Amino acid sequence: MKSRVFSGARPTGRQHLGNYLGAIQNYVKLQDQYDCVYCIVDIHALTTLDNTRELQKNIHEMALDWLAAGIDPKKSIMFVQSHVPEVCELHTILSMVTPLSWLLRVPTFKEKVKQNPGNVNYGLVGYPVLMTSDITLYKADVVPVGEDQLPHLELAREIVRRFNDHFGETLPEPKAQMTAFPMVVGLDGKSKMSKSLNNHIELAMTEEETLKRVMTSVTDPARQFRKDPGHPEVCPIYALHKYFNPLQQENVAATCRTAERGCVDCKKAMAAEINEALKPFRERRAELAAKPKYIDDVLNDGAVRASVIARQTIKEVKQKMGLL
Ligand code: SF4
Repeated sequence: MKSRVFSGARPTGRQHLGNYLGAIQNYVKLQDQYDCVYCIVDIHALTTLDNTRELQKNIHEMALDWLAAGIDPKKSIMFVQSHVPEVCELHTILSMVTPLSWLLRVPTFKEKVKQNPGNVNYGLVGYPVLMTSDITLYKADVVPVGEDQLPHLELAREIVRRFNDHFGETLPEPKAQMTAFPMVVGLDGKSKMSKSLNNHIELAMTEEETLKRVMTSVTDPARQFRKDPGHPEVCPIYALHKYFNPLQQENVAATCRTAERGCVDCKKAMAAEINEALKPFRERRAELAAKPKYIDDVLNDGAVRASVIARQTIKEVKQKMGLL
């Protein structure tokens, strides 16, 4: 029997290059080795309560991008978190074995409190417990993560160990599978590529939109004039060359350092590489977008298949706890 992978992502709508290189590309590869469960975690999106009016649209756009990128619903289970309500039941159960002190020390919780002190809700504190429920409800052994998510997974493992210690071996302790490209720098050159920071390039952009977007990117701040030698290692466009133009990467670095290459031409070349690489994705996306019912059918079928596993896990958990 194949090991099972679980991964979830908030419904952020149209996906960007950071999502693609950091996660989706890896999701597609994993399908051949593992039994994969991919979840659009809409309940997690409620912790900040913004954008709920856009939720259904965002779920649809995200599912469209995942499918166009190569997630195959015949190989993998792809569904929406709230369509399998057993996750809320397991969340309540696991919250009983999770000390509050473990949750209050989570660095992302502390950050969120600082960012939004007016909305420190119960769901925000319990976010890692819901994440643990997502993983364990489907008895996943492996979770693909970036470096920044490692502490969350470690906490999930601690919660599982505590449950199993109390009630007997029931839930598997999930292991991290580091992604090949855990962090893609955004066009601001400072932070991880992210929609909320508006430093991203959407996969579904047109070729013209992509070029326009790439031209807005910062480059090496030391290059004030065309003749100034560059430092490619600090430039987000150079970072993208690593993914989209690897054979030319050394040449790009060398000609940047000697100022033979100008930033405008370098950006135009980068946009052309991105457009070329995304051409099959964009064609497939346009085909899928023309049949919206297909996306709903995939998500409904995914929820049915996920429910079969979820019901079995909940039954075992309840039996172990004396609830059945
Ligand atoms: Fe970046 Fe290219 Fe400009 Fe060098 S030439 S700073 S790699 S955009």
